[in-house]
Amino acid sequence: MGQATKNPGGSRPKRAAGPCPSWRVALLMDLFQEISTHEEAALLEHLQDCERCREERRRLRLLMQLIQTAMELPPRVPLL
Ligand SMILES: [Zn+2]
Repeated sequence: MGQATKNPGGSRPKRAAGPCPSWRVALLMDLFQEISTHEEAALLEHLQDCERCREERRRLRLLMQLIQTAMELPPRVPLL
């Protein structure tokens, strides 16, 4: 009796989504296309199983597109 656990199902508490720490660097390397072929293959394999890393990759790519779009636009204000 008297079980003190707040988590009887044994499931992990829900946290803010984020990529696996061990794959964070690989995701960035992939984003900047600095990833090796071998690492990319491993990353893609991991992405098939890991929704959080897939989501992070999508967010990073979206961010990258926004940055590139912004850099291609001519500046609205003359620099000097
Ligand atoms: Zn992951």
